[in-house]
Amino acid sequence: MIPPRKTRTIRIRSLRVGGDAPIAVQSMAATRTRDLAATLRQIRILEAAGADLIRIAVDSREDVAALAQLRSQTNAVLSVDLQESYKLAEQVAPHVDKIRYNPGHLHHHERQRSVRDKVAWIADQAARHGCAIRIGVNAGSIAPEYQERFGEDHVSAIVQSAVDHCEIMDALGFRDYCVSIKDSDPRLVIDANMRFAAQRPDVPIHLGVTEAGMPPEGIIKTRIAFEQLLSRGIGDTLRVSLTLPFDDKGKEIEVGRELIRDIEAGRFRSVPPNFFDGLNIIACPSCSRVENEKFIELAEEVKKMTAYAKEHKLTIAVMGCRVNGPGETDDADLGLWCGPTTVNLKKGPQELGAFAYDAILPRLREELDALIEARGRR
Ligand code: SF4
Repeated sequence: MIPPRKTRTIRIRSLRVGGDAPIAVQSMAATRTRDLAATLRQIRILEAAGADLIRIAVDSREDVAALAQLRSQTNAVLSVDLQESYKLAEQVAPHVDKIRYNPGHLHHHERQRSVRDKVAWIADQAARHGCAIRIGVNAGSIAPEYQERFGEDHVSAIVQSAVDHCEIMDALGFRDYCVSIKDSDPRLVIDANMRFAAQRPDVPIHLGVTEAGMPPEGIIKTRIAFEQLLSRGIGDTLRVSLTLPFDDKGKEIEVGRELIRDIEAGRFRSVPPNFFDGLNIIACPSCSRVENEKFIELAEEVKKMTAYAKEHKLTIAVMGCRVNGPGETDDADLGLWCGPTTVNLKKGPQELGAFAYDAILPRLREELDALIEARGRR
């Protein structure tokens, strides 16, 4: 049930991605990279689960130093996310096999420098060290020029951004790149990836539903997107993003492989009726940026506490850090993002304040009850 893919094959060190290569399954270490022992342990867990590629986050000089040490202690195919600091490419490229940059984050530094120049610089750093590149577009961080151009039409904005960055890579003669277009809503992921693949059938695609949340809902959302895309021959590598305790992160790989096996065998699981009509809890998969490990427990408690509202068509987002938390919760009816000692509560884009970890659930309940009541009056 997975037709032959039309993409070209790229190389990420020893790993072939795209074309007739097997669909590669990847994951991300959720530990603080500078905590060498914990990160190495996380890498071993993911390797043991069969990860083809492992991504690690680098946010500081200590993380870069740790990366060099990790490189000497593992043979895993490694990737690093540049996040807002595209200049980190120079320091991380010698130690990894792939670099991911987000077109929506390039404007944060050196605003006077053109996007094309920045991409050329990243591509140059990657080429010097034999790294592949992922152009990682995310609906939660659309580049300002695309926001202005497309307004509320987020799908057109992210697809066009990906297509334009592919053109920059092509013009630079950089070949070993792939593209991801992610969001937490699988329907948007399906639409955007189908539109991108129609325009660039040659470019390998990394699939993912970001911030899918906890199992089983996180798996169901991911399955919805992957069933629709892989069965159309779209998707050359994938990540299942799940909110899990660190020691269980290997489950992301197991679920990814199971999804591929099921789709190949034509075993499509039906989507629970009205899945999108009830309460939808989005939670980030957690990574080294999580500011308080109570986040995982909190996400689970939010799910339990809100079970009474499962018939209501509302979205609650629970995010692990201040980097992506504030922006990624804007579209939710209620959003929580975790700081070191407090949890910030939002109603749509409106901030409602920061609350202690042991005070947030009753406060969330008040807001949820008020929303349900207000909707009932309409
Ligand atoms: S929201 Fe923050 S903690 Fe969660 S995955 Fe994204 S960057 Fe990591």
